Amino acid sequence: MSARVLSGKELAASVRTEAAERATALAAAGRPPKLAVVVATADESSAWYVRSIARAAEKAGIACDVVDLGAEADPARIRDRLAELSADDTVHGVILQTPLPRGAKLEDLAGAIAVEKDVDGANPLSLGRLAAGLPAFAPATAEAVVAILDHHGVDLAGLHVAVVGRSTVVGKPAAHLLLDRNATVTVCHSRTRDLAAITAVADVVVAAAGRAGLITAEHVRTGAVVVDVGTNPTEDGGLVGDVDAIAVADKAGALTPVPGGVGPVTTALLLRHTVQAADRG
Ligand code: NAD
Repeated sequence: MSARVLSGKELAASVRTEAAERATALAAAGRPPKLAVVVATADESSAWYVRSIARAAEKAGIACDVVDLGAEADPARIRDRLAELSADDTVHGVILQTPLPRGAKLEDLAGAIAVEKDVDGANPLSLGRLAAGLPAFAPATAEAVVAILDHHGVDLAGLHVAVVGRSTVVGKPAAHLLLDRNATVTVCHSRTRDLAAITAVADVVVAAAGRAGLITAEHVRTGAVVVDVGTNPTEDGGLVGDVDAIAVADKAGALTPVPGGVGPVTTALLLRHTVQAADRG
C-alpha cells in the first residue's frame, strides 16, 4: 500500500488568492492591510520562515513589517513594542516570532498583543477563547492541521485522533479544534508511556513533536491518516518532518508531505487572518 499524499499546496494557493482579493478590496477602500512580525532571534530557520511570510504577504498585497529587535532584546522591550504595534491603527496583525531570548516566554509576552490583532493566536486569551468555543484567531499551524484534513475530505466526527505534542502553539490548540470537530482526541507528549500503543490505535495521527523520525510504521495503524507538522532541518539544508515518511507511507492510508503539507497552509492562513483582522478594524 502506498499512502495518498495530502498536499497542502493547492489549498494554500486558494487561501492566498482569496486573501489577495480581499487585500485589494481593502486597499481600494483606504484600509491597506498590514502585518507586523516581531523578531528577537538570530536563528537561521526562524529567519527563513519570516522571509517566507514576508514574501507571501507581499505577493498577496499585504504590507509586512519585520521588526527585528535583535537576539539580545530585553523582554520588557519586546513587550513594549508589541503593545505599540497593537495600538497602531495602520497595523492589523501582529506576530511574535520564536525562539525568544533566554528568559522570555512566548505565552507571557504575547499577552501584549491585542486579541483582535493576534493573527497567530499566541495571546493566552486567544487560546482560552478557543478552548471555550468563542471566536478567536487560532494559531495558524493548528488551524492548518484541520484545514488540510477538511480539504482532502477527511470527516473528523467520531474519529480517534492522537496528537503528539502539547505545545501552546500547536498541540493544545490543535486538540481543541479537533474536539470542536467532534473527534475523540488523545494528546501525547514527551512523558507519555508507550507512545506507539496509543498512536497505533488512532484513526488519525498528528505528529507535532519536532523530532525527526519519531513516528515510524510501528506507530501507525494500517490505513490511518497521518498529518506531519514537524519541520526539522537536515544537515544538507533540507527539511524533514516527525514522520519516517518512507516506512509510514507503506502502511498509512494518507500522509501529508514535508515540505509541501502543513507549512504552506500555515503561511496562507496567517494572510487570511490578517485580512480578516483588517476587515474588522
Ligand atoms: P515544542 O518543542 O514547543 O513542543 C514539542 C512537543 O512535543 C512537546 O509538547 C513535547 O512534550 C512533545 N514531544 C517531544 N518529544 C516527544 C517524544 N519523544 N514523544 C512524544 N512527544 C514528544 O514544539 P512546537 O513549537 O509545538 O513545534 C512542533 C513541531 O512543529 C516542530 O518541528 C516545529 O518546527 C513544527 N512547526 C511547524 C510549523 C509549520 O508551519 N509547519 C509551525 C510551527 C511549528
